[in-house]
Amino acid sequence: MDALVDRLVCEHRLDAAQLGSLLESCDDRAFNILRKHAAEVAQRHFGRRVYIRGLIEVSNYCRNNCLYCGIRRDNRAVERYRLTDEQILSACEAGYQLGFRTFVMQGGEDGAFADKRLVPLISTIHSRYPDCAITLSLGERSEESYKALYEAGARRYLLRHESASPQLYASLHPSDMSWSNRIECIKTLKHIGYQTGMGMMVGAPGQTLDHLVQDLMLLQQIRPQMVGIGPFIPHSATPLGHYKAGSVQTTLLLISIIRLLLPNALIPSTTALATLSPMAQIEGIAAGANVIMPNLSPTDVRRNYEIYEGKAAFGTEAAEGLKMLSDRLATINYEISYDIGNYNEEVKI
Ligand code: SAH
Repeated sequence: MDALVDRLVCEHRLDAAQLGSLLESCDDRAFNILRKHAAEVAQRHFGRRVYIRGLIEVSNYCRNNCLYCGIRRDNRAVERYRLTDEQILSACEAGYQLGFRTFVMQGGEDGAFADKRLVPLISTIHSRYPDCAITLSLGERSEESYKALYEAGARRYLLRHESASPQLYASLHPSDMSWSNRIECIKTLKHIGYQTGMGMMVGAPGQTLDHLVQDLMLLQQIRPQMVGIGPFIPHSATPLGHYKAGSVQTTLLLISIIRLLLPNALIPSTTALATLSPMAQIEGIAAGANVIMPNLSPTDVRRNYEIYEGKAAFGTEAAEGLKMLSDRLATINYEISYDIGNYNEEVKI
């Protein structure tokens, strides 16, 4: 066990068999050692500073029917909304005033956000806030579309791979969604030049340790600039609503392992962690994460972007709650960084 930890810490890589034994036999003592090393690596790259990203949930309309997701097409109980350009621009302005220098536009796959609407919107944000980064998280699109959005000024794209296993992916998605297309999209985004984010849910129904090993191998292979992981949280209006939530502890362990595998990656301590336990978000930072994405969406629509039940959108999860967030970070001797926080190629060993 200690030999595996040493190797991960020194060489920043492990093969599948080694990752398997690490995940299988990692007890509290080993996790504490890993976490300490992961935090040290994060501090070497970023100091005791956490980047903030303002999350704007632009639409909860979605053409897809992912079995785990609360805003899936077939969930008739959701009140659907779609922000106007004015609402999105005023969210950016409010965020800019609060100190945000990254705006993340996330949403369901909504046909209304076609390129002809997004390109001018992104250009406007880009020219109004040239000192800010624009991140998109709008699902699978064509290469032409990804290029057009990049040319308009978007520079980061979050598209979780959801699972490195085609079989597990197929059990979490309807048959009209394709694992290979998702992976192709990720490779295309990276190739175009986006800082690209991957990730998966921890404890998704049917997920085994071996699936997580495959995820870690794929992350080592593709080496995305960002990795977002969070526990699966059931939503009762979905086909997977009766499964139990993923483990906070395993999520924290994976954050530490990913930090050691990809030392300079941008790793958020996600809202799903914060939803399961108020302190988990801070523990994510202490485990090696270096990004928090507070919610900048207009407050009246926040409850409708319910991808899982009870999703946190207020307090330290809210853009208005930055003071509370900074107080919480201070308890572990960290602070908010108001920098744009781009990915930095340089690996400091
Ligand atoms: N439509 C976009 C954004 C999806 S929402 C896209 O396809 O990328 C962002 C992420 O939330 C998803 O990638 C998924 O990993 C996560 N998510 C969705 N439902 C969830 C649930 N029930 N529990 C935990 N995470 C969930």
